[in-house]
Amino acid sequence: APVVELADVRKTYDVGGVVEAMAGVSLSLDAGSYTAVMGPSGSGKSTLLNLVGGLDTPDEGRVTVDGRDLSTASEDELAAVRGTDVGFVFQTFNLMPRLTAVENVALPLVFDGWGRADRTERARDLLEDVGLGDRLSHLPSELSGGQRQRVAIARALATDPAIILADEPTGNVDTETGDRIMALLGELHADGHTILLVTHERRIAEHAERIVHVRDGTIERIEELGDR
Ligand code: ADP
Ligand code: ADP
Repeated sequence: APVVELADVRKTYDVGGVVEAMAGVSLSLDAGSYTAVMGPSGSGKSTLLNLVGGLDTPDEGRVTVDGRDLSTASEDELAAVRGTDVGFVFQTFNLMPRLTAVENVALPLVFDGWGRADRTERARDLLEDVGLGDRLSHLPSELSGGQRQRVAIARALATDPAIILADEPTGNVDTETGDRIMALLGELHADGHTILLVTHERRIAEHAERIVHVRDGTIERIEELGDR
């Protein structure tokens, strides 16, 4: 069953001249599927992720996540989707510079109402899962790019979201670290998470089961790669 559905979604930005970022996109993602989105810069990849993640709403059409229609959702409902249904991994890690690795990972749980001891324990477990058990008290500035990205992935997993949205997660790291991050996403897929990954690298996109090729705000073609 689809866990994400876009039906004829349109999104324009008015920046002293109208830009059509999504020009009528329909797409559905089955629960547990692994999809990569490829396309040139400006083709609408980030817009697609932001719509699915409830960071933005469409001008026309419908975006449904886990049965919730985001196009008519209130700001509170959108916040609930961001807090529980989806986890975001960005190219820029968006970590809080004055918080340790554990505190960064625990942050989404503060908003979810977890007590301090429970969220610290969960954050430690997650950091161990991503291979950072020995970096719990480090600040972002004390970590390498790859380690920061892994902290960001651990943070995205804190609320155990069904859907992982990753925007160029290997964009700012070396090849070896990128491979490790892709292995981590592969494990999440094997665990049943639905993954939507934006990349401009073919080699990275081939980790997915299918590649959605976008251009000028539309889906050009969908390439099935089969189960991994
Ligand atoms: P991609 O991720 O494929 O590079 P985007 O989704 O970021 O593409 O952008 C699609 C189009 O929408 C581009 O022309 C971009 O300039 C425009 N756009 C995206 N976000 C905004 C925004 N917040 N304000 C104005 N224009 C935007
Ligand atoms: P990764 O493969 O996870 O990116 P690296 O091989 O880049 O890790 O880094 C190895 C070690 O060097 C790490 O333990 C990290 O603490 C340290 N290190 C790397 N880059 C930086 C940096 N920019 N600032 C502080 N420490 C760093």
